[in-house]
Amino acid sequence: MSILIKNLNKVYPNGNRALKDINLEIPAGMFGLLGPNGAGKSTLMRILVALLEPSSGEVSVFGYNLLKKRKEVRRILGYLPQDFRFFAGYRTHEFLDYAARLSGMTGARKRKQAVDAMLENVGLFDARERYANKLSGGMKRRLGIAQALIHNPKVIVVDEPTSGLDPEERIKFRNLLSEVSGNDAIIILSTHIVGDISSTCKRMALMNSGEISFVGAPEEMLRRAEGKVWRIRVSGDELTEIGNRYPVISTIPSGMSWDVQVVADEVEGYDAEPCPPNLEHAYVYYMENNLNLWTED
Ligand code: ADP
Repeated sequence: MSILIKNLNKVYPNGNRALKDINLEIPAGMFGLLGPNGAGKSTLMRILVALLEPSSGEVSVFGYNLLKKRKEVRRILGYLPQDFRFFAGYRTHEFLDYAARLSGMTGARKRKQAVDAMLENVGLFDARERYANKLSGGMKRRLGIAQALIHNPKVIVVDEPTSGLDPEERIKFRNLLSEVSGNDAIIILSTHIVGDISSTCKRMALMNSGEISFVGAPEEMLRRAEGKVWRIRVSGDELTEIGNRYPVISTIPSGMSWDVQVVADEVEGYDAEPCPPNLEHAYVYYMENNLNLWTED
């Protein structure tokens, strides 16, 4: 059971080509969609949750054709958008009950049970009488997760999950999401923060300018950046030139000189020492080189 995306294109009415012939298979488990702002992630997410029509292409979600079976797909789908807002005047439990009704849960008693269990799961039971729009940032995020999961969806789409959260809350958020969503669900996390991907996602795709430039395990992306990260010791005078020639990842003062880390296939004219890459380096390498999986292999 998976999501299959074939030759998907989106051109906005103003002519912006946000998605260019996307082909992607998303299996069960946590899947990270990584890319800079403007890459097309939200556009893809909004198409996947049937809020936006593609210009062309096909999407099948657990065997349902998304364009023909919108209702069925919506029933098995939970969505946490980027700018999730709560209506003023709703208490936390009332809001969740409202979300449950919207997701097609009709029986009041069953709904109350589900709401209480979910509040417990996301650690908001004690806050159930508080007004939803008055909760702290982290609590609002947890309520956001709760509303996306209340009807036990098979596909969970989370757009930029961590904006507005501090690092500790970000880790908690990812763990919570993987804990409460079960084993056989597909969870898609879209983010521009590399660290959100590395610790939780078994598979990922890299997106840039409406195209997918890598699909696979984060470790595989890392492997492809091996031998491409260099440490160079330079004087203050040389810093600008290095910055002009190579993408610089870090600059650390070291005595009278500087230790500079750059990403490049090779470094010429400097005494460069290779360093092991991390996922952030690999991300920069892919972005700089605009590597394309489909033409490379
Ligand atoms: P991301 O989520 O990765 O930041 P988006 O999907 O929001 O990327 O945007 C992809 C591209 O589509 C950008 O160039 C953006 O300006 C453009 N875009 C997004 N929404 C619209 C819209 N409603 N109308 C026109 N262009 C849009």
